[in-house]
Amino acid sequence: MRPTPLLFLIACALAAAAPPARADDGAAPARTLRAGGNALQVSVEGVSDPARAAMLQRWLAEAADATLTAFGRYPLRRAQVRIRQIDSRDPSPVPWGQTERGDGVAVLLFVRRDASLAQLRADWTAVHELSHLFHPYLGRDGRWMAEGLASYYQNVLRARAGLLTPDQAWRQLDAGFGRGRRLGPGAALDELGRGGTMRVYWAGAAYWLEADLALRRERGLDLDTVLSRYARCCLDAAADDMDEASPQAFADELDRLGGDGVFARLYRRYARSREFPDLSAAYAALGLETDPNGLRYSQRADALNLRMAIMAPRPSNATH
Ligand SMILES: [Zn+2]
Repeated sequence: MRPTPLLFLIACALAAAAPPARADDGAAPARTLRAGGNALQVSVEGVSDPARAAMLQRWLAEAADATLTAFGRYPLRRAQVRIRQIDSRDPSPVPWGQTERGDGVAVLLFVRRDASLAQLRADWTAVHELSHLFHPYLGRDGRWMAEGLASYYQNVLRARAGLLTPDQAWRQLDAGFGRGRRLGPGAALDELGRGGTMRVYWAGAAYWLEADLALRRERGLDLDTVLSRYARCCLDAAADDMDEASPQAFADELDRLGGDGVFARLYRRYARSREFPDLSAAYAALGLETDPNGLRYSQRADALNLRMAIMAPRPSNATH
């Protein structure tokens, strides 16, 4: 998607080369989800069948609930979600998703007309896009941090909400790291712009996993808590202010809110890196071992506790 001066898009459907050419038009019945004083207005556009529209609302409410497992409220005071149905040759139930920033923040999800609820629940796109609401617009240089946070959280939040098992979520993360690693060395992460998608997404996810682990092991904190503090102090103002936040300034702010150097230290290591990060220390801490059959888990108490603290199912504290 081409950014206009007042509209920034983060387009995330990995398989799609371009947004869909044809979507249904039409006014939408909107529903407002509320949690922790914040609101998510969800509209389904161009769907005349009330049962179908209700099913799409139900799907989105479940994905929105998954994001509440981070800190019990939506990160922004107000945001919109717009769901549109499309015909697509792409077999994915959600062939395209994007986050628009301009007049407020809006998540757009393009759903196949024939996608079933079971297919939609198994898809990552909605939780991925909703996870972009946790960070400010980070520009081209910070695309790896933005996509990385959404790629990390799409697995963590779905596991906590019971949409994936913790085992499936670790395997998804590990498979993503494998896809990023297999690309081999390339340009520095902060220079990749719109290219290098697999390394941008999964080296980015590695950044947030390493930050989360360092916060838990060194600071007695976690990523959810620091992002919650950021949302309280700064996120709405950053969303209203159309200047992009520099990724380094975002890392510094997260350090001020409790990271105490964790985010800047990792930022220095990642932003200029031309190779996929070495995650062996992270895997050792988590008790994860890869072998030809996939992942194996250590039952060492500290590793088990760390894995559970990140992925174990927990209530969303949804209030809607
Ligand atoms: Zn994304």
